[in-house]
Amino acid sequence: AQAHLDAIEKARALNAYIVATPDRALKMAEVSDAKIAKGEARPLEGLPLGIKDLFATQGVHTTAGSKILEGFEPHYESNVSAQLWRDGAVMLGKLNLDEFAMGSSNETSAYGKTISPWRRQGSDTPLVPGGSSGGSAAAVAAHLCLGATATDTGGSIRQPAAFTGTVGIKPTYGRCSRWGIIAYASSLDQAGPIARTVQDCAILLGSMAGHDPRDTTSVDLPVPDFEAAISRGVKGLTIGIPKEYRVEGMPDEIQRLWDQGAEWLKEAGATIKEISLPHTPYALPAYYIVAPAEASSNLARYDGVRYGLRVPGKDIAGMYENTRAAGFGREVKRRIMIGTYVLSAGYYDAYYVRAQKIRTLIKRDFEAAYASGVDAILTPATPSAAFGIGEMASADPVEMYLNDVFTVTVNMAGLPGIAVPAGLDAQGLPLGLQLIGRPFDEETLFAAAQTIE
Ligand code: GLN
Repeated sequence: AQAHLDAIEKARALNAYIVATPDRALKMAEVSDAKIAKGEARPLEGLPLGIKDLFATQGVHTTAGSKILEGFEPHYESNVSAQLWRDGAVMLGKLNLDEFAMGSSNETSAYGKTISPWRRQGSDTPLVPGGSSGGSAAAVAAHLCLGATATDTGGSIRQPAAFTGTVGIKPTYGRCSRWGIIAYASSLDQAGPIARTVQDCAILLGSMAGHDPRDTTSVDLPVPDFEAAISRGVKGLTIGIPKEYRVEGMPDEIQRLWDQGAEWLKEAGATIKEISLPHTPYALPAYYIVAPAEASSNLARYDGVRYGLRVPGKDIAGMYENTRAAGFGREVKRRIMIGTYVLSAGYYDAYYVRAQKIRTLIKRDFEAAYASGVDAILTPATPSAAFGIGEMASADPVEMYLNDVFTVTVNMAGLPGIAVPAGLDAQGLPLGLQLIGRPFDEETLFAAAQTIE
C-alpha cells in the first residue's frame, strides 16, 4: 500500500486520482497484516485498489467528476466497493472520470483531464486514456494500483482498457449491484473491474458481483468461480465474427488485429463463423437517445438542496437554475438537453419510443446468433488507438461518440463484454479486442480472453 501511495505521489502529473486516501489505505493495510499474521487472510487480503469516483465511498469525497457534487461525502458505501473491503482489499483513493461518466476521453472531468502513461513512438504528445473510466485505466496501466473499479454504460470499461493495454470486463447487466453507484443511464450502467491481466479481472469480478436486494435489477444467481474458468480454453467453442462491425473507414491495422484474434482462437481449437447482427448500424444513434433520456431524469436530483454545490438565487427556482448552470459542465448540459427533448410530449414517440424498439431489435440479433450455436462474438474493442488530448475536441461531439461504435450494442442488449489487449499499432500504442458473451456467461469470455492474452 505504501509503495502504491508513493507511486501515486510521483505520478501526480497523470491526474489519475482525484483524491488519494493514504490514512485509510494504511489503516486497512494494518488490518490486512494482522489477518495474514493470524493465518486468517481473506480472498483479496491487502490488495491495493483504486475506486472510480462514481462509487459512493463512506466519509470520502465523492464527485462523479462534477463540480455539482463539491463537498459531497456519502454516509454510505456502494455495494461493490463494500464487497471488495469485505474481502480484504485496501482502498488507495478515488479515480478520475468524465463528468457523470459521460465521455470517451476523460476530458470532461471538472477535476482536470487524466493523461495516459502511453506515448506514440518518438512523440511527446500526451494521449487520452479513454473514458469514462480513464482514471481507472491510467492508474492500472501506470501501476498506481493493482486493479480498479470502473463502470460501463456504453463502453466506459472496455474502451479505456483497450486504449491503455489493460483488461476490462463489463459483466452482464444485473451481475453487479448498482446500489451506491451514481447513476448515469440506469438501464445500461454496470460495474466491472479494470486490471492488468485476465486473471486479475476474474478475481476482482468474483468479489464485486453478487445479488443485492437494494438494487431491484441485481440478479439472484450464484457467482461462478471466474478464476477457475480462465484455464478452460476455447476448444469446441464457436466464435462469431459479425460482418456489420467491418465499418467504413476502419484502419487496416484494426482489421488485421481482428483477423489475428480470430486466428489465435482457431489455433486454440475454436470454430470461427461469420454471423450477421443486422441492426448494428442503428445502435449508436439509439444509444445516444436512450442514454441521455435516462441521464436527464437521473440528473434532475441535483438541485442545490440535497447534494453538494448550492448557488443562491432570488427565489428557489433561481437557486436551482444558478446551481445547475454553475455545477454542470458543457457535455452534461448537452446530454440533459438532448434527453429532455427526446422525452418531451410530441417528440417522445418519434425518438425515445423508436430508440427503445431498436434496442429490442439489437437484443434479438444477439439472441438469434446465440441460438444458432455461437458461444461468443469477437470484434475490435475500438475503431482506433488512443488519440491525443484535445485532438477530438472538435465542434462536432458526434466524432467523440463514434468511439463507442463497437461497445454500445453490448449495453443495449445487457450482455457481458470484455476488452483484452491484443497488439500494438504502427506507433506502438496498444489495441484491444472485444469478446461478447451470452447473458451471465462471463466464464466463456474469461476463457477466450485468456487465449488471446
Ligand atoms: N462514451 C459513452 C458516453 O459518453 C459511454 C460512457 C460510459 O460507458 N459511461 O455515453
